[in-house]
Amino acid sequence: MSRPIINIGSINIDYVYRVPHFVQPGETLASQTLSKGLGGKGANQSVAIAAAGGHVQHVGQVHQSDVWAVEQLTAAGVGTDAIQLSSEASGHAIIQVDDAGENAIVLHGGANQTLKPDTVSSVLTQHSEAACLLLQNECNLLADSFAIAHELGVAVVLNPAPMTQDIIDLPLHLLDTLIVNQGEAQGLTGEIAIDDVVRTLRDRLPNTRLVITLGAQGALLAHSGKILECAAEHVTAVDTTGAGDTFVGYFLAGVVAGLSDQDSLARACLASAIAVTRSGAISSIPTLDELSRYKN
Ligand code: ATP
Repeated sequence: MSRPIINIGSINIDYVYRVPHFVQPGETLASQTLSKGLGGKGANQSVAIAAAGGHVQHVGQVHQSDVWAVEQLTAAGVGTDAIQLSSEASGHAIIQVDDAGENAIVLHGGANQTLKPDTVSSVLTQHSEAACLLLQNECNLLADSFAIAHELGVAVVLNPAPMTQDIIDLPLHLLDTLIVNQGEAQGLTGEIAIDDVVRTLRDRLPNTRLVITLGAQGALLAHSGKILECAAEHVTAVDTTGAGDTFVGYFLAGVVAGLSDQDSLARACLASAIAVTRSGAISSIPTLDELSRYKN
C-alpha cells in the first residue's frame, strides 16, 4: 500500500431541504423533502482518495452523537483513527434547493473549528513518514498545521477552498502542491486572464506544483518549467457539487501512487467528469472500476 496521505479536514452533516423558493426575511416556509448526509470538503476529499485506491488518514472532529458519520467514512475506506468525538455540534450545512435547482446554504463550522493543536502535532509526529499533509480551508489551525508539517519535513498540499483573504498570508512558497479552481486562482493573484494567473503564481511559487481546475475546460498543471494541460471529458453535467473534491482526491492519490503528473491529471479529470453526471457530492465520486469501465 502507498504511504498515507494525512487529511486534516472538515466533516459536515448536510441537511438538504427542497423548497418552492428560498425562504424570505420573516417567512416560515414548509420544506417538501429533507435529506441528511455526510459532506464537507475534507470528508469528500478523503472519500475520493480512498475511491482512487489511496491510503488516507482523516484528522477531524464530529459531535459524539454523530458516530454514524465516522462509520460511513470507515466504510468508504478512509482511516478514521484520528477522528475525535466532541461535545461541540458537528459542522453542518443547511442547504435550500429551490425548484430551479439553485441552492442557498448556511454553513456552521462547529466541531471543525475547534481542532486542538496537540491533536494535530501528535498525529503528524506519529505519521512523519506520510506522503503528504492535505489541507482545505474549512477547519481551524490551518497555519499551525502547515507550520508543524513543514517542521517535520512532511510535504503540504493545499486546496484553499472556500477561499478567504487570510490564505494569502500563509507561507504558500513552502507548499509542495497548490490545487485551486479558476476563481480561487484569480483571487490569489488579482489577475483575470488565465495566462496572467499562471505567470503570477509561477513567479510567486517557483518550487510548487500548481494545479488549476477549469470546470468544463478541464485542468492545467505548472511545475518545473513545464505546463501540462488536460481537456475535460465531454459529459452532460447534472450536478457539479463535489467535482473539485473528486479532482483533488484522485489527483493526489495518483501522484502518491507514483503516476506521472500528466496521468494523475488525466485520471482526476475523468473521475471529476463522471462525478458531474451524478447528483450529490460523496455519492457522486466514482470508483477506479467505474473509471476503467467508462474508458472501455
Ligand atoms: P465544485 O466547487 O463544483 O466542486 P470546483 O469549482 O472546485 O468545483 P471545477 O474547476 O469547477 O472545480 O471542476 C473540477 C474538475 O471537474 C474540472 O477540472 C473538470 O475536470 C471537472 N469538471 C467540472 N465541470 C465539468 C463539466 N461540465 N464537464 C466535464 N468535467 C467537468
